[in-house]
Amino acid sequence: MPKKPHVETAVPTAAAPAAIVKKLSLEQKARLLSGSSFWTTAEVPGVPPVYLADGPHGVRRLDADVGDIEGAVPATCFPPAVALGSTFDVGLVERVGEAVAEEAKRRGVDVVLGPGINIKRSPLCGRNFEYVAEDPLLAGEIGAALVTGIQRRGVATSLKHFAANNQETERMRVSADMDERTLREIYLRGFQRVVTKARPATLMSSYNRINGTHTGEDRRITTDILRGEWGFGGLVMSDWGAVHDRIAGIRAGLDLEMPAGGESRVTEIVAAVKSGALDLADVDRSATRVVALALAARDAREAATGDAAEALAERGHDPEAWHDAAHHTLAREAASRAIVLLKNDGGLLPLAPQTRLAVIGELARTPRCQGAGSSQIVPTQLDDALAAIEDSGTDVVFAPGYLLDAAADDEAMAADAVGAARDASVVLFFAGLPQSDEAEGRDRRHIEVPAAQLDLLDRVLEVNPRVVVVLSNGSVVRLSGFADRVPAIVEGWLLGQAGGGAMADVLFGRVNPSGRLAETVPLRIEDTPAWTSFPGTGLHVTYGEGIFVGYRWYDARELPVQYPFGHGLSYTTFAYSGLGVSTGSTDGAGLTARVAVTNTGGVAGREVVQCYVSLPGSSVPRAPRALAAFSVVDLAPGETREVELTVARDDLAYWDVRADRWLVEGGAYRVEVGASSRDIRATAEVDVRADAFVAPLTPQSSVGEAMAHPVIGPTVTGMLQGAGLSDDVLIMTRAMPVGRLPYQPGSGVTHKQVRQLLDVANGTGGVVTRAANKVLAATTRLRRHR
Ligand code: BGC
Repeated sequence: MPKKPHVETAVPTAAAPAAIVKKLSLEQKARLLSGSSFWTTAEVPGVPPVYLADGPHGVRRLDADVGDIEGAVPATCFPPAVALGSTFDVGLVERVGEAVAEEAKRRGVDVVLGPGINIKRSPLCGRNFEYVAEDPLLAGEIGAALVTGIQRRGVATSLKHFAANNQETERMRVSADMDERTLREIYLRGFQRVVTKARPATLMSSYNRINGTHTGEDRRITTDILRGEWGFGGLVMSDWGAVHDRIAGIRAGLDLEMPAGGESRVTEIVAAVKSGALDLADVDRSATRVVALALAARDAREAATGDAAEALAERGHDPEAWHDAAHHTLAREAASRAIVLLKNDGGLLPLAPQTRLAVIGELARTPRCQGAGSSQIVPTQLDDALAAIEDSGTDVVFAPGYLLDAAADDEAMAADAVGAARDASVVLFFAGLPQSDEAEGRDRRHIEVPAAQLDLLDRVLEVNPRVVVVLSNGSVVRLSGFADRVPAIVEGWLLGQAGGGAMADVLFGRVNPSGRLAETVPLRIEDTPAWTSFPGTGLHVTYGEGIFVGYRWYDARELPVQYPFGHGLSYTTFAYSGLGVSTGSTDGAGLTARVAVTNTGGVAGREVVQCYVSLPGSSVPRAPRALAAFSVVDLAPGETREVELTVARDDLAYWDVRADRWLVEGGAYRVEVGASSRDIRATAEVDVRADAFVAPLTPQSSVGEAMAHPVIGPTVTGMLQGAGLSDDVLIMTRAMPVGRLPYQPGSGVTHKQVRQLLDVANGTGGVVTRAANKVLAATTRLRRHR
């Protein structure tokens, strides 16, 4: 069969979904608004079903209706989001996305349910391994890269979980309670970035509530902000089983309920339309979006091979048949870029080829490549670090040392490991969390490495101090118990099916590590931003730390941390010089930083150059620094390159709660460029002009606000000065609502004058006193700011 032309995106083409919907009965339209099975949407005349599957670090194609992971079609297990975040490499993540899409097509999957980009508010969130970062810019950039890669190959994505799904405890009922600025700047901002940059075909609403309302029933979140402000044109589906009030959801803009809602849902929707409780227009609108998705999926399927179903039938579930060597190689590359070298005293790493190694720890032989829950897939193969290290031609003795998932020490195993360590020139100690600690549906209670492993590490250190600790964990663990006693620590996260080989590549220096922390490693769980409120009480969790999440928190409070956000070492060193920052001349332009980076060591390496921005003296509380741009640069020894970091003007904006909009504050911004959030190598200042916005004044505005107003400010100031108020009275008067000014003894201001001043300020005309008019005339040039 001849191939149809390559489809670039999953966005519908020629067919007109609205015309199809017009021909459907009310019952058929209602049927389209929920799934027909666990993984498919409904089929009605002219509208094929859509097959949805989890991932997104691989494709989880389950054939059974609910489906056990054991029955899944094998797929390449790429590094999960926790690891992809640490690459800081959008180009690489796009390539992973493309590979995931290729596998999705071959397995007949139309929509990959991901990526998940919820902010890591607390290290205790049980699903942090499925999320990217504690920072919205990084989460948004990596999320956008995955969406772009997957959709470029004609497979749709479902950006999730929209929004503020930052814990698993009571995930279906809890209300994430926060102020608007926090919501906008931290918990929605990553979603906004992905939606505007990569245009995902669908979004998945979250289980939780925000400020009391289920997200799928919240019109402000699901329609006004998402579509109205961000221009989202795709479909919103529920998380699986997240629907409470289906009719409210349709009204709010929750187009598709997943999984199957059953016949009673169809009846319920039809009845609601007939009774007038639900507008037919709302049903039509959501049905049109489902049809648009179905047609786009059909087009993409046909363009791809036209035979995904046959391929499935022919090839069955034989892992060998599904094996894709190129994708395994890509998984290894991505994993090697995700590994973070946290510490390397004395240059213990990379290992010299002939080193006599003791490899200790069951995790070296039995890798944890992913977390548990709906994202879990069946890998096409699974490399372990032990085999990869043995393949490196070195003299290796292995001792498992401890049992996975066992709380107590096994003395015989431990003694054997200590013996192995004693005779080695370097010990590779594999430590980490058992699978049971990190799973969807439950949060962690602590961030401790199992005691049995720590006890063994102590004993190993007594006989041999040359220890490299290699970690496997999906979210940060406390390292302060041993970090200062071991010379080297390698954070290996959960690295996907090729993680074992990737780890050997880094340990032996075949890959020079370049991973960076996408989440701070705290000294203690008690230091973390959400410690006192997570996971909430009475079905409410208060995000009391506000915008101060992750490094924003530790920096604002000047708290020491184990390893800061953005940290990661290399086998070489880099020098920064000649930072220059400029602002663009056009209206939408932000700022551009240019810095020269030189590889000052003896081996080729990759630096992740990070740019943080702040506004000292801002009128609103701000983080001491916020990531605004980053870039990876590969450098040969001695090579210098200029790195350009561009910050969009929108990324300088804060959410102004009074104006209820994004605003760029004017002033001297501090631009810091460096190798981590606490390893700043160069700083510059640059003047940024304010947005031309003046908040309307009301009688409730303060006298101080009126005095600061660009048009009437001088008049008001002049009037008050003329009234001869003492300094002390003037200070108190500034805090008073302007409408109360006439009641202030001695102010000399009348009700009429206040009304006129407000009219002038708000551009509705009016005259003030003759004296005030004179002042106004002198300040007309200020009107241009309005
Ligand atoms: C998870 C989603 C997942 C869905 C389908 C839900 O429990 O929260 O992330 O996509 O199940 O498996």
